[in-house]
Amino acid sequence: MAHDTPQATGPGKLVIRNIGLLLSGALEQPILDADTIVAENGKITAIGRLKNVDTEGATTIVDAHGTTVAPGLIDSHVHPVAGDWTPRQNQTGWIDSYLHGGVTTMISAGEVHMPGRPRDVVGLKAMAIFAQRAFWTLRPGGVKVHAGAPVIETEMVEDDFKELAAAGVKLLGEVGLGGVKDGPTARRMVGWARKYGIQSTIHTGGPSIPGSGLIDKDVVLEADTDVVGHINGGHTALPDDQIRCICEGCKRGLELVHNGNERSALFTLRTAKEMGDLYRVILGTDAPAGSGVQPLGILRMVSMLSSLGDVPAEIAFCFATGNTARMRALDCGLIEVGRSADFVIMDKAQHSPGATLLDSVQLGDLPGIGMTIIDGIIRTQRSRNTPPATRVPEIVGH
Ligand SMILES: [Zn+2]
Repeated sequence: MAHDTPQATGPGKLVIRNIGLLLSGALEQPILDADTIVAENGKITAIGRLKNVDTEGATTIVDAHGTTVAPGLIDSHVHPVAGDWTPRQNQTGWIDSYLHGGVTTMISAGEVHMPGRPRDVVGLKAMAIFAQRAFWTLRPGGVKVHAGAPVIETEMVEDDFKELAAAGVKLLGEVGLGGVKDGPTARRMVGWARKYGIQSTIHTGGPSIPGSGLIDKDVVLEADTDVVGHINGGHTALPDDQIRCICEGCKRGLELVHNGNERSALFTLRTAKEMGDLYRVILGTDAPAGSGVQPLGILRMVSMLSSLGDVPAEIAFCFATGNTARMRALDCGLIEVGRSADFVIMDKAQHSPGATLLDSVQLGDLPGIGMTIIDGIIRTQRSRNTPPATRVPEIVGH
């Protein structure tokens, strides 16, 4: 059916050469020994040294001028509503602004800001199916928005999940934002979702806005969602001992968000590191939120976790790329043959005291973005939102 087929990409062959540093997105080998990437028809087809890869017939050639190429960033937690408009802060163009912050893929944690959001079962299913279709058809700025994430209510039965899955819904919105706030009911419904291939997440911590409620460690562990949504609170975090219990009590994704408690994010990171579980750490912004939208939010999380959490910058970038892609079964997020050709090209910001891009991030600075690419197509050149990059890539051939 139409909603299962990926959006078409134009035929073309992209070559990015003269890459100074290639970040893979993969924790086990975060830096690749290569200076060239080739992508055909939106997928990576070769990674290597220029002399060893086939660049014949390129339709677009980018000279990276020694800058850093990484997989496009993934925001694991957003709340889109319709197109590129959010009623939360009555703002338009926010997704396009995120693209200028290096984000090429977004995951909806529920379209909960929809004015008049229906809470009856027929209505919430209809809204989820509509959102899935609408964001699959329209990609603001080219950003892949995986939306259509229903918020579960107590009246739902197994057949509702079967019907949603058959209609193309692949995500649940944050458990706890609807009527289901108890462990046993959440666990039953999360199990139904999983049975039909629908991923799940949960609102962890205190209420985010009036109308939402507290979800503590017992509910989180009993619900057993695929991702522990904003384990650092959105905004109010659980006490540290409860966060530790969650980290140790399951092997699910540990999502850290910008619109959360930063100290708790660092506590979670340290705990995951001690456990040897850094592969579980994924990043989101949880925007639009009460504090607005954060186009540079994912970069800010990478920089914050690297500089204050004592994690090498190339590892912190994995939290925003490969970890999320693996956790959520996405075809992007890693520099690997066959994956989507979604890239962000960066350099250290002008006048950052860091010697290199990685050094500048470990010192707490944000990188400057020089180009974003989605499905092998150049979407932006020098970012309008980041500090200016020292060097920027250049299109040298069409
Ligand atoms: Zn939440």
